[in-house]
Parts: sequence; C-alpha cells; structure tokens
Amino acid sequence: LEEGARSCLMRFRHRLEDDIKPPYLMDHMVTDGVLTGDEEERIKNQDQAAALLALLLMKDNRAYISFYNAMVQEGYNDLANLLHRDLPLGLPEGLKRSTDCCTPYVQTVLSEGGVPQRPVVFVSRPELVNRVREKLYRLQKEPGWVTVFGMAGSGKSVLAAEAARHHGLIEDCFPGGIHWLSIGQLDKPDLLVKIQSLCFRLEQSLDSHPLHRPPNSLDEAKERLRFLMLRRHPRSLLILDDIWDSTVLKAFDLHCRILFTTRNRSLADSVSGSRYEVEVESGLDENKGLEILALYTKTKLKGLPEEARSIVRECKGSPLVVSLIGALLREKPNRWRYYLGQLQQKQFKRIRKSSSYDYDALDQAMAASIEVLPDEHREFYKDLTVLEKDTKVPAKVLAVLWDLETEEVEDILEEFVNKSLLFVDSHNKPFLYYLHDLQLDFLVEQNRTQLESLHSKVVHQYQQHYKDAHSTSGDEECLYWIRFLTYHMAKANLFQELYSLMFSLDWVSTKAQLMGPAYLINDYVEYGPILDKETRSQFQEFLSLNGHHLEQRPFPDVVQLALSQPRTSEVYKQALLQARDRATTG
Ligand code: ADP
Repeated sequence: LEEGARSCLMRFRHRLEDDIKPPYLMDHMVTDGVLTGDEEERIKNQDQAAALLALLLMKDNRAYISFYNAMVQEGYNDLANLLHRDLPLGLPEGLKRSTDCCTPYVQTVLSEGGVPQRPVVFVSRPELVNRVREKLYRLQKEPGWVTVFGMAGSGKSVLAAEAARHHGLIEDCFPGGIHWLSIGQLDKPDLLVKIQSLCFRLEQSLDSHPLHRPPNSLDEAKERLRFLMLRRHPRSLLILDDIWDSTVLKAFDLHCRILFTTRNRSLADSVSGSRYEVEVESGLDENKGLEILALYTKTKLKGLPEEARSIVRECKGSPLVVSLIGALLREKPNRWRYYLGQLQQKQFKRIRKSSSYDYDALDQAMAASIEVLPDEHREFYKDLTVLEKDTKVPAKVLAVLWDLETEEVEDILEEFVNKSLLFVDSHNKPFLYYLHDLQLDFLVEQNRTQLESLHSKVVHQYQQHYKDAHSTSGDEECLYWIRFLTYHMAKANLFQELYSLMFSLDWVSTKAQLMGPAYLINDYVEYGPILDKETRSQFQEFLSLNGHHLEQRPFPDVVQLALSQPRTSEVYKQALLQARDRATTG
C-alpha cells in the first residue's frame, strides 16, 4: 500500500471503524478479487470493522481502491471523500474494465502466440491474476521482467496464461502480441533450438518468408531474437514457462518485455532492467480447492460432503492433485471417503530430491487414478514414461507405438485427459498431448527398472512401421520421430542402431531438410561420448562446413555437397556410393 493511502487509513481509522458496516463492503471487495472468501469468513468472526481495516493495511493499492469504490457504492459519501484525496494514482484504465477476457481479439492474439487455453475445469484466482496483471502493466512504457514463482504444480502456468487473457491489457500494453515459449530443463544446445523455433515463429507471423537462415550459434540466436522483438514485434510480451536456470534466462536478457514462471525466485537477480515479482503461495486456498471438486462432481459448493474439505487439505491445495481426485470422483461420486482414505495412506513414501512439494499426495492421487484404468490402458499409460519433459505429441505417434488406428488412440487419450492424467493442447491441429512434469517424474520413478525396455519398444515399433524408409511427410508425427528417434535409441542402449542412424547420409539429409542442421549438431554433441570419435568428427565437420547450405530452400543436393569432403571421410564414401548408384539407375 502506498504511503499516502496508508497514512489516510491510519488517520481516519477510528471514524471508519465506528461508521462502516463491513459485510456489504466486503461483498464488493470479494467481487473485485482483492479479498478472498477465507479472509471474509475470518473477518466475520471478529470485530468486523477493525479487522477489515487491519487487513486493508496489509494489502496493496488495489485493495484500497476497491474499498473506496465499495464505500461510494454503498453510499458512505463523506467517508469516501476522506479517502479520495489519497487514492493511489495510476490504476491502469485497462484493468478497470473487467470481464473482457474472452473477446475474439483476445482469443486470436493468444492462439497466434501459442498461449495455452484454460484447463477444462478451471477456477479463477482473481487476487493472484490481478496481481500479475498489475505487474504486467508496469511494462507498458518500458521493458522489464515479471517473475511468477512458486512450487511445482501450484498453478503458475495456468496463472500466467490467465493473466494474459485480458483485452484491455493486451490493447494497452502488448498490442504487438503475446508469445509463449515452454522452457523446462534445458542444456545449451536445446536452448539454441528453442530460440531458433521462436525466431521462426516470430518471422512467420509477419506473413513473410524468413529472410535469413536460422541462427547457428547462441549468440547469433540472441541477436536475431533481439532484432525480432525490438524491431518487428515492438510492444509484445514474451512468456517463458518454467525456467530452471539463470543461464537460460540470460539468453533472453534483450531489453524486451518478459514474464517467466519458475520454482526459483532468485533467478531474476541475474538479469538487468526493471523487475517485478508475484509469489504463487502454496497453491489454492481451501475454497478454491473445494470449487474444483464441486465443478468436477457437478455439485453445489454447499452440497459437498464433509470429506471434501479433508481431501483438499490432504492435497495441500495443489491444483494438480485436486484435479486428479476431482476427475476420479466425477466417475465414482460415492467414493469420497475411499479416496480420502487413499490420500491419507501414504504407502508410496519415498525419499525425494525435492522437499519443496508434497509428493506423497501426488503419488497417492496418481496411483489412484491409474488404478481405475482398464488393464490395457494402464499399460498404455506406462508407455508415456518415455516422453521427454515438456514435449507434446500428436496421437499418431502413439498410434505407431501402440499399433492402433489413430481414432482408437484418440479415444484412449481422451480418457486420460478426462482423468487429468494427461493434458491436451487443442489450439494445435492435430491436438498435441503432454504430461505435467510431476506426472512424468512419477512415471519414471514407478517404472525405473523398465526404462530401457520401454524405450526399445518405441524404437522397434517405429522400425516396424516405417521399415526401411524414414517418415518424411513433415507433419507433427514425422517431426516427432525425426527429432526423438535418436533419443529413444540412446535411452534404450540400442547403440548399434544409433550408430547406423547417425552415420547415415540419408538420415542426415532427412533431418537437416526437415528441421535444419541445429538439431543434428545437437545430436552429435549429446551422444558424442558413445559414438565413434573419428566418424563423428567427420560428420560434424561436414555439417559445420555446410550448415548454411543446408538451411537454404530449395534444399541442396546433399550428395553433391558431401562429395567435396576429403576422400577418407565416411561422408564422402557414402556420397560416392550414392552417386554411383544414381549413375547406374539413371
Ligand atoms: P505449475 O506451472 O505451477 O507447475 P500448472 O499451472 O501447470 O502448475 O498447473 C498444474 C495443473 O493444476 C494444471 O494442469 C491444472 O490441471 C491444475 N490447475 C492449475 N491452476 C488451476 C485453476 N486455476 N483451476 C483449475 N485447475 C488448475
């Protein structure tokens, strides 16, 4: 709260305490999202006026303004006049217009920028959302950072997306657009690839073909991004979801407008410019947790059984865990006591690396949700253990893995989504499916001893399906395979397969054509230690010499390029064979 407003409240405290009737005022304030239901309850059990003022003194400017507006609306004109002089200035106009979150303009902007939609069952957290929006408004006139920090699964990503879902905010502050980038745990080469794809998106959205080849090094990528953000997309917001590492954040230190979510509050210390932060405390407050359960079970808040409150407590307000339980109850509405019992059992207790999150509750909820799956679907769900974090897959990839029709796979995935065991990005056509980090942690933990065979299954199913020729259609499915086949081979310890893939000129050509050379170089760096050193350096040499050619379109003749390698190089030898082959077949 600003000094002036605080002082005003202190000076007139006694008069206010004597004259106001808090219940009506609090109604307005709850509606404005500056007071939570819990706080309202607490105040009702005390000397109401004094308690409300005490609380107000601990709140922010918005609470003061809301209190003032409530006074005006309830006809306390004289008292309101006392407060008026010290009204904090600068409540952004745009934020005063509420209820304009879902205009077609907002939807277009967010969908173009890849901002995720609301989860199917969604509760609003107005106080938090407003806090984030208010910080975003500070970026109206100058670049800077907004950090949204809190524990895993506390709802940061959903909150970040929700904050952006506001007509006035976008119009006033970010008319250049809102661009979402999921980050997660990355190493340097991955980071380069992420920035490349962001640059590609930013260039594409200008309706012009990319003028340049993709940037080749991290420094170059930063420069390109700086140019695109400052020159081509001025006054736009970049949302970086789930940052772990300050080196990653530094790559975006480009004097632009950024909101990022993280578990690590101190990350923003490593970058320059104005910084604001919002903490997402331990998750949902109790009433919001109850609201989620009520929505899942289609009951009124008041009609929830007494176990509901205990369930929310056991979940420690984690929206992810409450959603899992809610989805179970939707199907078995008379199991409140049973699921509460399950949550309390903690039979899966294990020592975890992170102590910052109540994994027990998540374990229990995941185990319970998986248990109600039909046997064969449980096996399918287990197969998802092999996905890399922060990776979204189309149903077709799983159709290959499970040897089913895509439609059948979609039905199975829909079941997982309904149980909150999986999430879907339906902006994208085809839909893309993904797990929350913590769910993947759970699966990896559960299936630790079978990782190798699970990855082998992926590789073998791919080989079965595609026989000798690689997938080259360029659709989402194909891109998944081209990107991750090497990853699965390495995890499956299928080294022979990995060598022959990575040391094949055909593969190099396919991957370069579909994804650009950066991913390829990334592979050689990543799997370098398990590859033959000599041959690996020949391929890397070839790529670094020809990188710029491989980015051109129309795509060059790779055999021709390879023929200019030294004769001793494996790259040359393969090219020669292919050239001869061509000559004989005409
Ligand atoms: P974080 O980014 O902090 O790890 P997320 O934002 O991904 O957490 O939220 C985890 C899950 O919790 C979501 O997938 C969703 O199911 C649920 N969730 C989060 N926020 C809400 C909300 N406001 N309403 C309903 N469910 C939510």
